[in-house]
Amino acid sequence: MIPITVVDVRDAEDLVVEVLRSGAIAQGPMVKRFEEAFAHVAGTKHAIAVNNGTTALVASLQALDLQPGDEVITSPFTFVATLNAILEAGATVRFADIRRDDFAIDPDAVAAAVTSRTKVLMPVHLYGQTADMGKLAPFAAERGLRIIEDSAQAVGASFEGKRAGSFGIGCFSLYATKNVTTAEGGVITTDDDGLADHLRVLRNQGMRARYQYEMAGHNYRMTDLHAAVGIPQLEKLDQLAAARQANAKRLSDGLAGTPGLSVPQVLPGREHVWHQYTVLVGPHAMLSRDELAAALTEKGIGNGIYYPKVVFDYDCYRGHPLIPDARVADFPVAKSVADQALSLPVHPHLTESDLDRVVETVREVLGA
Ligand SMILES: *Cc1c(COP(=O)(O)O)cnc(C)c1O
Repeated sequence: MIPITVVDVRDAEDLVVEVLRSGAIAQGPMVKRFEEAFAHVAGTKHAIAVNNGTTALVASLQALDLQPGDEVITSPFTFVATLNAILEAGATVRFADIRRDDFAIDPDAVAAAVTSRTKVLMPVHLYGQTADMGKLAPFAAERGLRIIEDSAQAVGASFEGKRAGSFGIGCFSLYATKNVTTAEGGVITTDDDGLADHLRVLRNQGMRARYQYEMAGHNYRMTDLHAAVGIPQLEKLDQLAAARQANAKRLSDGLAGTPGLSVPQVLPGREHVWHQYTVLVGPHAMLSRDELAAALTEKGIGNGIYYPKVVFDYDCYRGHPLIPDARVADFPVAKSVADQALSLPVHPHLTESDLDRVVETVREVLGA
């Protein structure tokens, strides 16, 4: 079986042992070291480590002091954490449809969704490629919107040389299967000194110094044990990304021209870090997306459907007061992509022969 992801953190053994021997295992110097390395990777002045990516989103929204009725515009084609974080923060969720070429929010749809209550634009840099920040960032600036980038899948990605997470407030996930992992973890990036300070206090029960409370906070802290797991990956992030890029190229070269299949695009000016390599199985392919997934699994090729439905299309969200008038039919691109998307293995542990087997198997079962 060629797995869809491999988690390899063996290189962290020495640092983790160092933390274990120190006896100081909660948030401490290793978290600080991780934050410095992460800020460097994101190209921002500050990085604030937290306990997971969902927390990063929630804390960022909380730091903006949104009022009831304030709206956040985001993508309907994302992991459910994006939606849950906005609901947790008590804001109203508005969706704007995505584009088929980058799977991210469409700037024209954003312009149509914005109202006088819109306060935040939350693009999701899906699969490792950024949204169209060349249009979204100026639009947000013009309309006075804050940008929170859901960069959970895009550590190291860039748009015209500017890194994901540096256009506004960046929120990253360090979950086990993400490109950089600490098992569970998250990071918030920003250039804003005041916001960084606010987030650090919020993360620690709102406490500036011992029993000196400045706000109603929370425990969002990362531990030194987790930070130690992630540091070696940050040090070799360029290498890991280059391996994913080479793998994606080999897949795309091999799969080009397969009837009914669209391979993922790298759009001009964007550096893609290939969290996922996601093809679209169109209506004229010999097999449906679900049939292709089943055939690949049977032949030992790992694969994944990210994501099978538009994010709000579940009973638990229907009629939710903070998700007004969201109807699947209003997001036709997100709906068709959710029906057609299939991710294939692209992680750094694949050999050339693994990649060739993925290509040959997909081509064979689709009659190429
Ligand atoms: C993984 C992910 C998150 C949430 O991160 P966790 O660390 O699992 O809480 C949020 N948004 C997107 C797009 C993700 O892929």
